[in-house]
Amino acid sequence: MADILRAVKGMNDILPASVPRTEKLPDSALWSWFEATVREVLARYGYQYIVTPIVEPTALFVRGLGEVTDIVEKEMYSFTDSMNGDQLTLRPEATAGIVRAMVEHNALYNGPLRLWTIGPMFRHERPQKGRYRQFHQLDVEALGFPGPDVDAEMILMVRALWAALGLEVGRDVRLELNSLGQPAERLAHRTALIAHFEAHAAQLDEDARRRLHSNPLRILDSKNPAMQALIEAAPRLADFLGAESLAHFDALRAVLDAAGLAYRINPRLVRGMDYYNLTVFEWVTDQLGSQGTVCGGGRYDGLFEQLGGKPAPAVGFGLGIERLLLLLQELKVARPSAAPQAYAVLPSAAALPRAMALLEQLRERGIAVQMHAGGGGMKAQFKRADASGARYALIFGDDELARGEVALKDLRDASAAQLALPLAGVADWAARLRTA
Ligand code: ATP
Ligand code: MG
Repeated sequence: MADILRAVKGMNDILPASVPRTEKLPDSALWSWFEATVREVLARYGYQYIVTPIVEPTALFVRGLGEVTDIVEKEMYSFTDSMNGDQLTLRPEATAGIVRAMVEHNALYNGPLRLWTIGPMFRHERPQKGRYRQFHQLDVEALGFPGPDVDAEMILMVRALWAALGLEVGRDVRLELNSLGQPAERLAHRTALIAHFEAHAAQLDEDARRRLHSNPLRILDSKNPAMQALIEAAPRLADFLGAESLAHFDALRAVLDAAGLAYRINPRLVRGMDYYNLTVFEWVTDQLGSQGTVCGGGRYDGLFEQLGGKPAPAVGFGLGIERLLLLLQELKVARPSAAPQAYAVLPSAAALPRAMALLEQLRERGIAVQMHAGGGGMKAQFKRADASGARYALIFGDDELARGEVALKDLRDASAAQLALPLAGVADWAARLRTA
């Protein structure tokens, strides 16, 4: 037999839980419950849905401005369109594409917008648990608002999402906050930082030496134990923030404090992209090893201008869906059943047209009923009925139909008597099944 084709390394199938697999990945029912919950929670805050392309011009991400980030430097899937020579990139994140769309359509003309999207992102990283080459993000952006009110609202909205998903703040996920100040403040800090690291150049590892002039802030993020003392002694950005930046941060904190949301100020918190200012935040967990950041975001007031648009303040975050769902699975968070309410057992081929017409009537009444397709004996059909997770089986047997009835069997309670329901009473069946 010929070798089968396999998915590209680091790019995963999301499958129904009934499909056995070896890799630890979320199942598709958990995935769609997450999406439904997101829709519901974000609607409470007035966020609107947007979809932008997965492929963008490479120039959207390689802007020649700002610092060289890891993502742009070595993680992007970029290629030349063989038809016309265009330089294209599979988006590594969603923010730049959304801002591009806003600028292109002059979308903030009538006022600010709150937007969200969900979709795949691509980064050429070493695949491991919680880190993939194609992964998915919930991406949320509030555009045209200077904050800090909307920054605080966004963070509280994530807390509301945790609550809806059954996660407990403090135990399962924690909030980390920082302020990056404004570009001029960062520049002064950056100069001091480079001077500090240059004065101790011998202690820098290879990564740090490479970043010293391209992105010295990122050195602060290094996990290398040998550099921690040097990092600890480095000049702190907080000491370079001016009065306005401090007031923005304090106002954000006042809202979070009043809402009873605990957080840790992490002066070392920086983000992977270069366009952030003022507010930055991460939601982290201890349950996923080194891939512990499930959600990260912040303010990026300079990006509209960088992309050729009219200046507009903005704030947003990306939430890693695989990581978050792995966390939900690890914590065995309770979720609604995705099983149908009933499974229709159809032992009689002659009765099929009539039975199927009745099933349509049930579904019109909102009942989820999975039909046994493909025929087969009662034993095989009941095996499938059990596996479906349905509470009830509706049995359209010849005997029952001859009596003008359908049988209702409780699959989860062996002691419960089988009931005979009149064929004419679909509304009553629906009422019974609705409680399942
Ligand atoms: P990390 O430090 O873990 O590499 P990041 O700072 O690169 O994360 P962001 O660009 O802020 O991540 O993306 C937002 C979120 O998307 C992350 O917090 C994480 O949950 C998720 N994420 C990022 N990269 C990956 C990946 N390769 N695979 C799975 N999820 C990812
Ligand atoms: Mg990364």
